[in-house]
Amino acid sequence: MQLIKKASGQNLGGHLKISTIFSFAFSVSLFAILVSNAGCKGDTTNKPSTTETSIEQPVPVPKFDRDSAFHYVDKQVAFGPRVPNTDAHKKCREWLVGQFKSFGLEVIEQPFQARAYTGTVLNGVNIIAQYKPSAPKRIFFASHWDSRHIADSPLNVDRSDEPILGADDGGSSTGILLEIARQLQANPADIGVDLILFDAEDHGNDNDVDPQPETWCLGSQYWSKNIVPAGYRPRYGILLDMVGAKNTRFLKEAVSMNFAPEVMNKVWSLGQSLGYTNYFVNEKAGAITDDHYFVNTIAKIPMIDIIGKPANSQTGFGDHWHTHNDNMQVIDVRTLRAVGQTMLEVIYREAAGRF
Ligand SMILES: [Zn+2]
Repeated sequence: MQLIKKASGQNLGGHLKISTIFSFAFSVSLFAILVSNAGCKGDTTNKPSTTETSIEQPVPVPKFDRDSAFHYVDKQVAFGPRVPNTDAHKKCREWLVGQFKSFGLEVIEQPFQARAYTGTVLNGVNIIAQYKPSAPKRIFFASHWDSRHIADSPLNVDRSDEPILGADDGGSSTGILLEIARQLQANPADIGVDLILFDAEDHGNDNDVDPQPETWCLGSQYWSKNIVPAGYRPRYGILLDMVGAKNTRFLKEAVSMNFAPEVMNKVWSLGQSLGYTNYFVNEKAGAITDDHYFVNTIAKIPMIDIIGKPANSQTGFGDHWHTHNDNMQVIDVRTLRAVGQTMLEVIYREAAGRF
């Protein structure tokens, strides 16, 4: 992904007001009292087995297993750089598809060809894994699963023409989606969830003088113009990118705030209410060319981007970004947990009509 410009000002909505949240150590977070404005849209609907009370019943949310997610990141990295047209890319694709199928999801593989800025024709594959494919109410989560073909960060010190491992950049977000898939199988939810792995996100031309956004995100551009499954209209999407590094944080990125401010504000409030205040920070960030930009502008599906942007960044991203230091050493299970648990809360609260 690529930084494109500084953020413009946006007012925060702040209409979601969560007053009290208790998290139990294992398996349940108690959404004890939800104080909101009058006219709460029938949000008092409880599960059939519970008796009606004036206080909202807890929404059971499974515990995100950070070690499992870490394992999925490690497995991807073990294939080597997942650059299109390579054997590692092909083997990782087969593994990802097999994992999703083992979790009971239906998988659509969408092959495409796209010419990179280098002139190379890339053979890419978007992977769409569907939980409850016939459920009408749907949300989706996305990641890119490819890794960058070169290490062209100004902070990289050697082998700049060689591909990177992409533990954080590609691996972390994909690992979290795999763990979400595993949790959905173990803890059924009454909602359709799609987990989309876009290919060829990170093969763009990083040129400050002449930014070329269209050279990035080739898989999401293709999918947005050729949406599968046909007629797919989820309520919104959440893109994860570089969501596994130590000491990172997530700011309110400008494209997301332009196209889906309500989703972004709700997710940030939710993450903060779960205690992840060091990660979900109420600060605006500049626009980033990432898969969500094309999903918003071409597919016209509202989508936010949760993307790591640590304090005191020299490049706009973590110092490991597009360097050979983007390896398992930068991955922190606490970061994986903060993002993964927040995403599970979104899913199970949506299923209960309480997000
Ligand atoms: Zn990247």
